[in-house]
Amino acid sequence: MPFIDFSKDDRAKVDSIRAKTLKMIMEASKSSFPNEFAAFLRAEEGVIRELILLPGTVSGSSHAIFKMSMLPIDFTVVGTVHSHPSDTSLPSEADLDLFRRYGWIHLITHYPYEMDCFTCFSGRGDIIDLKIVD
Ligand code: ZN
Repeated sequence: MPFIDFSKDDRAKVDSIRAKTLKMIMEASKSSFPNEFAAFLRAEEGVIRELILLPGTVSGSSHAIFKMSMLPIDFTVVGTVHSHPSDTSLPSEADLDLFRRYGWIHLITHYPYEMDCFTCFSGRGDIIDLKIVD
């Protein structure tokens, strides 16, 4: 599987998300419960603004919900989001493996999917402070 080195890219500068987009994520997480919801994140000028749902995204509770073969090579995609059907957003080993391979910024939401029920991670799995903007 191809490894794409995006380390010198502007997309590494993403540091915020629109409240509207976050709300959409939480609603999708809620409606997928008890399964996981997964999507890709699209950003412009450092702000996550849009979700991309891919056909064939597997909604399950396996924690290995992104297939490497379906990751988009789209230069506005900055990372991924998925929900955990539990009350923790601690990444699994499969999550960390995905984070290392693809994108810069990754969100994990957790039950009960209120606006603060998420954690944001870098590709290295470090926690990032994500600002919520209008
Ligand atoms: Zn996970």
